[in-house]
Amino acid sequence: MKYGYVRCNCYIQGKTVAPANEEFISVTEKKIDWVVPEQEKYKDIKKYYLLGSEFADWRLLACEHLDMYMANIFIGTNEKIKAFKITLEKLGGKNNYPVLVEQLTLENSNKLDVRLAQGLLKEVEILQRNTTEEEKYMLLQKGSVDILASFQPDTPFIILNAIHAKEHLCLGDQGFFINKHFEKRDAKLQMVVLSKTKEMFKSRHFIQETLPQNQYKFTDLSNGNSFETKEKLISKNNVPTTIEFEVIKKKTVVNEEYKETLSALKTLAKASIETGNSIFME
Ligand SMILES: [Zn+2]
Repeated sequence: MKYGYVRCNCYIQGKTVAPANEEFISVTEKKIDWVVPEQEKYKDIKKYYLLGSEFADWRLLACEHLDMYMANIFIGTNEKIKAFKITLEKLGGKNNYPVLVEQLTLENSNKLDVRLAQGLLKEVEILQRNTTEEEKYMLLQKGSVDILASFQPDTPFIILNAIHAKEHLCLGDQGFFINKHFEKRDAKLQMVVLSKTKEMFKSRHFIQETLPQNQYKFTDLSNGNSFETKEKLISKNNVPTTIEFEVIKKKTVVNEEYKETLSALKTLAKASIETGNSIFME
């Protein structure tokens, strides 16, 4: 999940009601915060928590912007952003979309400098008019609209899960599949003498069953082939469940497919230009 936000300027422009204990307020480009020195904090810990919650209440409604953010908005799930980045590469990558390609990352947190906001706005507006068609394979839980993963042809398959590193759950243009990695070490030579990957399961319509001892069984619903592994697509707290999945092929259009993400990025770019503050993403 990725969110973006831009701080408003109401506090530094004196447009808010003055808070109690103003001496502890800290202003950074990222946010208006409350910082109490350690020694002050432990003098009276109860009072510290009380003042902290008073500060949070004040910041929430002290100006017309909730929590003093001119913009505070959901950009997209990690899956959506990964797919968006692949699309950007197909549309010319860094040459055409330098700000998006370099600044929209999957890192936990990053800052998009205010000096790049105008460029971001321009790139987003171009994409909002882009009607290029794309073909995608999408993995969904049957009956749900939430896409677990999407895959675009002509790109390498994606690994969805591989905790133990020996079995990989993947999505590619053949559908969902499980690869197992075999390795054989020679004790005398002290080296790997055999290393190969074999496809153990492949399906476009299948179920995942929870078995005892954290095992999961995948069964293809068209031919009955199955495979047991410790890997899983979705876990429901080890409650025995049978979940049905399907891989569907869908035609999408760039400006429709990324509508929400583009709209969120536009809001952030405009807020950044208006306030002169950078965009922070987490
Ligand atoms: Zn404000």
